[in-house]
Amino acid sequence: MMSLAQVERHIAQVQRQLLALGPLHPGTISEQYNVCGNPSCRCKDPKRPQKHGPYHQLSFTWQGKSSTRFLRPEQVEPMQRKVANYKRLRELMNEWVSLGVELERAEREKEKRAGGD
Ligand SMILES: [Zn+2]
Repeated sequence: MMSLAQVERHIAQVQRQLLALGPLHPGTISEQYNVCGNPSCRCKDPKRPQKHGPYHQLSFTWQGKSSTRFLRPEQVEPMQRKVANYKRLRELMNEWVSLGVELERAEREKEKRAGGD
């Protein structure tokens, strides 16, 4: 079990990491391959169809509203970083909450010892 001082140090670390997070965005990025309307296109080849793509699609739900949109090629990498930052934010939030619970326990433990004898 962590001491009170250890928990407090750990919380300060989490707070620093939260402040250092860059731009963020919720969601997941998926790759789509499509066929087009041209019957003689390579994507309709009966033996070796080569579908068009990949097209990158961002899907997310925020405040009850779902959205999906295609990303231009140059938007894919920045969005991947934003999505990773959002994931990290959620992890850090969970860590902070866990540490809050742990801090409460450590404080009670300390009080018990102080009044114990
Ligand atoms: Zn095609």
